[in-house]
Amino acid sequence: EEKLLRSVIDKPAETLCGKKISLQANIDFEDEVLNIEKYRADGIGLLRTDTLLMNAGPISMDGKRQEQFCQTAYSGSGSALVTIRLLDVGGDKLLDLKTREANPFLGWRGVRILLDRRELLRSQLKAICRVAGQQPGRTRILVPMISNMDELREVKTELESVQKQLAEKGTPIDKNIKLGVMVEVPSVALQVKHFAKEVDFFSIGTNDLTQYTLAVDRGNHLISDLYQPMHPAVLAFISMTVEAGDERDVPVAVCGELASDPFAAMVLVGLGVNELSMTPRLIPRVKQAIRLHTIREMGELARQVLASVSIKEIKKLKEEWQSAYE
Ligand code: PEP
Ligand code: MG
Repeated sequence: EEKLLRSVIDKPAETLCGKKISLQANIDFEDEVLNIEKYRADGIGLLRTDTLLMNAGPISMDGKRQEQFCQTAYSGSGSALVTIRLLDVGGDKLLDLKTREANPFLGWRGVRILLDRRELLRSQLKAICRVAGQQPGRTRILVPMISNMDELREVKTELESVQKQLAEKGTPIDKNIKLGVMVEVPSVALQVKHFAKEVDFFSIGTNDLTQYTLAVDRGNHLISDLYQPMHPAVLAFISMTVEAGDERDVPVAVCGELASDPFAAMVLVGLGVNELSMTPRLIPRVKQAIRLHTIREMGELARQVLASVSIKEIKKLKEEWQSAYE
């Protein structure tokens, strides 16, 4: 791995035919920020802010800590974009909640919590906007677990009101903050053409999109065989998202684990995804795979994969590709 790292680290993340692909970092904790520079990530595609949530008692948030975390993220990313995801708690990212839910993944999580606990949403937006104001043009805010348009509109209204309040107090703001949604619930993928009119970017969360599309709990070992992010239905949703994004010039990223698998990354690029976000350590592998192929080759691969109706077929394609190139 060290050897691979050294051989590609300073080479550009582009295809054999010269198309630039943005390889970004998924960051969960402050101390991982150093890896952005180390592995030459192109900014942050997913900053998971949930790790800062105070666990004690009712859900609450320390605004200053949030600002500090964002600041650290910006300073570790040079001048690149930073994609900050709003708190995504619930599901497997459990809080010390009093209420136990029968189906936490289908329950009170992500934006649903934020819209029920507006003070939490507002204080996080305020922390992000304050930092964004000092570094205009670099901020993307990503909303997790969106399942309908109204949730997006509510968040947009809150963002506008927080920005207005800051401006009135004379705090510098960035009028160009981009607002985007996670595509991780099938209802959003199915309505993605409509969402494309109201967002600045999409980020596809294949970890959740897989579990919600296939009805397979992402953490349940009994059914881990059924958990297949390369299932044709999941890929069809990804393809629909890329198409809808392209139509309106809305950038589409993939930030789920799938993006860090070299074969899958080639399929994604072949489908038209231009941004892949992953654990920084995994960037060199993906970069190497992409550098070995042209867009045409990856497009052909994507077409084959999209034409498949079975996971077995797709796995077979994967083996063929790997034996041909490794
Ligand atoms: C996803 O769902 O793919 C994702 C990136 O978010 P998380 O794994 O934090 O749910
Ligand atoms: Mg998710």
